[in-house]
Amino acid sequence: MENYDVIIVGGGAAGLTAAIYTCRKKLKTAVISLDLGGQTMLTNHIENYPGFDLIPGPELMSKFEQQASKFGAEIIMGEVESIKKKKNSFSVELKTKEKYESKTVILAFGKTARRLNIPGEDKFFGRGVSTCATCDAPFYKEKTVAVIGGGNSALEAAELLTQFAKKVYLTHRRKEFRADEITIDKIKKMKKIEILLDYLPKEVKGDKFVESFVIENTKTKEQKILKVDGVFVEIGYELKTDWLKNLTKLTELGEIIIDNRCRTSQAGIFAAGDVTTVPFKQTIISAGEGAKAGLEAYKYIKGEATVVDWK
Ligand SMILES: Cc1cc2nc3c(=O)[nH]c(=O)nc-3n(C[C@H](O)[C@H](O)[C@H](O)COP(=O)(O)OP(=O)(O)OC[C@H]3O[C@@H](n4cnc5c(N)ncnc54)[C@H](O)[C@@H]3O)c2cc1C
Repeated sequence: MENYDVIIVGGGAAGLTAAIYTCRKKLKTAVISLDLGGQTMLTNHIENYPGFDLIPGPELMSKFEQQASKFGAEIIMGEVESIKKKKNSFSVELKTKEKYESKTVILAFGKTARRLNIPGEDKFFGRGVSTCATCDAPFYKEKTVAVIGGGNSALEAAELLTQFAKKVYLTHRRKEFRADEITIDKIKKMKKIEILLDYLPKEVKGDKFVESFVIENTKTKEQKILKVDGVFVEIGYELKTDWLKNLTKLTELGEIIIDNRCRTSQAGIFAAGDVTTVPFKQTIISAGEGAKAGLEAYKYIKGEATVVDWK
């Protein structure tokens, strides 16, 4: 079985940055990932990564990967299925049943935005359909957009979009929002927002880019065609962390609980980026957290005090 100093699960911004840092500390590092680049690959317009005015996600992520590989990170393509604690190490097992052993593990396997699964959604993803208002709102200056969802993130996305778009439809499948009262009150007063409750999303239509969004009233079955340039799907995230339950502490939502040094409740296991409790899920934040996790793993291997009191 191959032995490493650090195994990083996930090859997105967090994982690849962690690898740059651990490799530069001369730690034997493997990045095990289903794909390389993670969610950042899904956008062609990144305007908020310092150092680049505008860069396509795939180009940015290819730079991350090249840098990690240049310093010696070994990339293994695969899906990690389980991690078991041994006496002084961890055994990391892939879905294919291949096993690797490592002194430390950095969990950086991100999250997946929930999708509507309606016709047109995939076809126009990145061409008007987005799951990240923080990232894409500035591209909708003086345009009309729809936001789908009834929780805080949907309402906050709608509010943010009013700073750019000329009109924002906020559609939700239930008769009431699930967000904080204070946010609901604020949204209801905003003139640019038209609220459409009790409507199910049905279809995204267009030619090269989104042109309209079809919704259906849950009671009357009446359909409306909203002429929009963008559709923001803000219905939460899926975190596939169930398999870690016996290893490290998770929140009710499944986020990995970390302290401000990326340490989890399990000594020797660190976590970084979207998969953790750190707020504001952004590429720059994942990269910064990955750097911290890498440096913390180095300290742990060197035997410097990193034990956390989780009581
Ligand atoms: C459409 C869209 C546009 C965005 N635009 C911007 C933007 O403009 N600016 C910005 O800052 N942020 C943007 N974001 C957010 C940003 O992409 C994320 O915050 C960032 O990708 C998180 O990085 P991460 O490394 O934490 O996780 P991820 O990017 O999710 O990477 C995790 C990696 O782990 C892999 N993985 C998952 N499970 C396993 C497993 N069990 N075993 C092995 N590998 C696994 C995944 O395949 C993936 O490669 C956008 C997101 C989306 C969806």
